[in-house]
Amino acid sequence: MPEEKSYQPETLAVRSGSVHSQFNEHSEAMFLTSSFTFDSAEQAAKRFIGEEQGNIYARFTNPTVTMFEERLAMLEGAEQCVATSSGMSAILALCMGLLKAGDHIVASRSLFGSSINLFNNFMRKFGVETTFVSATDVAEWKAAVKPETKLFFLETPSNPLTEISDIAALSAVAKQHDVLLAVDNCFCTPILQRPLDLGADIVIHSATKYIDGQGRVLGGAVLGSKALMEPVYSFLRTAGPTMSAFNAWVFLKGLETLKLRMTAHSAGALALATWLEAQPNVTRVLYPGLPSHPQHDLAMKQQTTGGGIVAFEVASSQGGGKEAAWRVIDNTQLLSITANLGDTKTTITHPATTTHARITPEARAAAGITDGLVRIAVGLESVIDIQNDLARGL
Ligand SMILES: *Cc1c(COP(=O)(O)O)cnc(C)c1O
Repeated sequence: MPEEKSYQPETLAVRSGSVHSQFNEHSEAMFLTSSFTFDSAEQAAKRFIGEEQGNIYARFTNPTVTMFEERLAMLEGAEQCVATSSGMSAILALCMGLLKAGDHIVASRSLFGSSINLFNNFMRKFGVETTFVSATDVAEWKAAVKPETKLFFLETPSNPLTEISDIAALSAVAKQHDVLLAVDNCFCTPILQRPLDLGADIVIHSATKYIDGQGRVLGGAVLGSKALMEPVYSFLRTAGPTMSAFNAWVFLKGLETLKLRMTAHSAGALALATWLEAQPNVTRVLYPGLPSHPQHDLAMKQQTTGGGIVAFEVASSQGGGKEAAWRVIDNTQLLSITANLGDTKTTITHPATTTHARITPEARAAAGITDGLVRIAVGLESVIDIQNDLARGL
């Protein structure tokens, strides 16, 4: 595509990426091959020392994976994308590529559970300490900075409370202290939010969620400048948590419908959140697209819509909060009881006893994850059917 940068996101999502074979295939091909051959010993030598560009081995590059990387980079407005085997290996590759023993991370307290474990239980073993702070209070981030601080890490909106971190404000603090800002953009995707435009240095994705969009395969990505991605890619090429060609092909096709799906997920979530607010047994609804959301204005400034995730609290008039939440979940017949999200199928979760069960009740309370809280990841079914399914338990 000659004028790629001038195209709209939905055009880039179906057209961008440069890899086509000699067969002029119209749909993106899947290259299931672990290695590539050379015309001569000399060419092999040139490829290995980097004097000539080209594929060598699928741990390094694969044309289908390259195509996915080019397309996601165009959508995020990034110079380079490095695809990984999962969202978690994207975060690992970021840490291994850019941090060393003695460095310090400041991270949002409201991160995906495995991200907290990675920082607390594994990066710490290698001498990288993490301070966890409020997702929403910029002053806490500022106060947590030390001379050793190298990285700010957050996700916005957060899971499950949909807290919004102010990317532009945190980017200003990060720049002041020569710290890199990484944003896990899993919940919004580049269709709803482009962190690099707001001042972030790095974007992380779990492609497993909305980029696939149909709950089939795991994958992830790290995006940023060429200079920042060089050591991240070098770690992947050496250690191997790279994306498979098959998964890259699924994600490429997922990107083509991403705008349509994100628009539909968001419209469904807004309709559901509005309906939930009117239910007598619902005490609180958290959705960034609702005017009642504590950070609605900020959300609407940095996102184009509220996204597909809604959390709400069930009144505990009969029994405790957990009993009330479980009653709503167990009375559904249509929704899937599972912790995954970003699927065409709507999912329902009780965070306090699943995704956040392993943190202490005190930490859970401090984080605002009450026993009555239910999280819905709105799929592509009719909202009327989702409402009827929830109405039974409510
Ligand atoms: C799921 C998720 C991850 C981890 O991604 P995997 O593909 O499961 O490894 C990271 N961040 C967020 C916000 C997620 O929802």
